[in-house]
Amino acid sequence: MTKPPALELRQVSKTFGKANGQAGVHPAVQNVDLSLPEGEVLALLGPSGCGKTTILRLIAGFERPDEGQVRIGGQLAAGGLSFTPPEARGVGMVFQDYALFPHLSIGDNVTFGLKGLNRKQRAEKLGFILRLVGLEGRAADYPHQLSGGERQRVALARALVPEPRLLLLDEPLSSLDADLRMKMREDLRVLLKVGKLTAIFVTHDQEEALYLGDRLAVMSQGRVEQVGKPEDIFHQPATRFVAEFMGNSDFLPGRRTPHGVETEIGLIPQAVDAPEGADLQLVLRADDVRFEPQAGSPSIVLARHFRGAMNVYRLRLPSGRLLHAFAPHEQRLPPGTPVRIWVDSQHPLAWFESTDHQN
Ligand code: ADP
Ligand code: MG
Repeated sequence: MTKPPALELRQVSKTFGKANGQAGVHPAVQNVDLSLPEGEVLALLGPSGCGKTTILRLIAGFERPDEGQVRIGGQLAAGGLSFTPPEARGVGMVFQDYALFPHLSIGDNVTFGLKGLNRKQRAEKLGFILRLVGLEGRAADYPHQLSGGERQRVALARALVPEPRLLLLDEPLSSLDADLRMKMREDLRVLLKVGKLTAIFVTHDQEEALYLGDRLAVMSQGRVEQVGKPEDIFHQPATRFVAEFMGNSDFLPGRRTPHGVETEIGLIPQAVDAPEGADLQLVLRADDVRFEPQAGSPSIVLARHFRGAMNVYRLRLPSGRLLHAFAPHEQRLPPGTPVRIWVDSQHPLAWFESTDHQN
């Protein structure tokens, strides 16, 4: 028999405020399917308000779904008339505002919810978990003696100490400053992988998602738009929303011809599975676009932004449309320089059919 997924959501929907008979409330979560094999880290990504926290709360048992099923380790946790309370689900959750008890020591904060262990077992467990999160020897300290990053580690330790089958992390790094955030996300990745944890990591930061997720699920307005490996989501976005949300995409209109896509910067020799003559929009990232100075060209450099190892150029096409392009930092072209632009991507470009309102 094959092992059931560690977590499965089947057609889960949730609308708030339904009971009050409010008209026009849109669902917070709508027909969501998700499946996590054991040991996988799924990054759940999407703009604020798209339903990320609600999904975690449905999994943890803090909300009941209106429709659909939540299965944990193959067992029904919510669905129909069944409902397993949060404490019986074996799910750990780390919140964005990792509220610790200020009057309790770090040790007591971490072991607060632990039951059924004697003093010695408790102490051993605490020692192990504090080592794991890099807070060895800090058990007797109080929250006010810790930095923001250390407090976040305590919250993590508190969620890990009951050995949950499934760990849910709701934007756990968002209150940390940029440097610490980078460091913590590396530590977190190691911790999740070494512990072979099954986890959902919620973020609205695409870089964080790409870094931490074995797979990504991109959400918009209560729906999961695409689930896949980071590379696939990036290079083969299933919807225009995913393309826009993941990685600063530019859209270049073109028309399918026998030899590729005809655009205002010329023919892009790429096969697309669209009828000949079809209008479409190619998805371009700054690393797909090349350019060089060419006198008399109708496209020009609009601006150059220094980004350390790279320059990011904003290029204006004859139509007024903008494209972004990376260029090595030695090359410095002033605004107004006429340039020839071409596409040189290492992968097939994503594209979408054009519709009027998208031009
Ligand atoms: P995210 O975590 O992606 O920012 P949420 O899951 O918090 O999004 O919210 C999704 C939608 O559900 C939002 O429109 C939000 O206002 C609404 N919502 C969330 N929780 C509640 C609640 N307890 N009562 C009413 N509306 C809620
Ligand atoms: Mg949220």
